[in-house]
Amino acid sequence: MQAPQHLLIDADDTLWENNIYFEEAFAQFVDFLNHSSLSAAEIRAVLDEIELANIRIYGYGSLNFARNLEQCYQRLAEREIRAEDLETVKSFALRILEQPLVLIDGVEETLERLHKRHELTLFTKGHPDEQRMKIDRSGLGRFFQHTAIVKEKDRASYEALVRERGLDPARTWMIGNSPKSDINPALEAGLNAVFVPHARTWALERTRLRRPGPGRLIVVDRFADLAEIF
Ligand SMILES: [Mg+2]
Repeated sequence: MQAPQHLLIDADDTLWENNIYFEEAFAQFVDFLNHSSLSAAEIRAVLDEIELANIRIYGYGSLNFARNLEQCYQRLAEREIRAEDLETVKSFALRILEQPLVLIDGVEETLERLHKRHELTLFTKGHPDEQRMKIDRSGLGRFFQHTAIVKEKDRASYEALVRERGLDPARTWMIGNSPKSDINPALEAGLNAVFVPHARTWALERTRLRRPGPGRLIVVDRFADLAEIF
């Protein structure tokens, strides 16, 4: 691509590992709950229901996940619910905040190349303090001219970003691992998108890719492939 483009880039599970830590916390929760009849998948379904209801009120992030695990335990525990057990359950989620930040292969070198030719915006959703902490730990902040942390990445938030920055939709691309938050709403807002799949993407972010707008959709195997496109 010859002309400079506006690249909006997702963070969690695009630049660094994230959902694996939530999966580990969930596995610890299943062990601790030790349910007599429900499978891990059935427990997951209950948790998904709690998460979907709570996300609308509280949003994303580890602290909210701790609350969701606590409520799931209160709903499913087959023994007396003790305060210390609720603390244990919450600790599975709070430990996520202490996990090392692991960059995905090729990310740093690719950003190094991209930021010289294009304007890069980090576009992520979640708890602002938690997301900012991860950006700081990643050391990747230097490649981005802008950072936007929003409560939800939906069509309206993409349209707001385009309006506020005066971006030209034809030269603007959203790059990320989530069909639900990155690809479909960006295309709905008339932007282009690059889908970078991640094998461990959170189930609630997985939906079918749709082509609702005039924009282009490119699917790559890995983040490093972006260097050949842009
Ligand atoms: Mg993501």
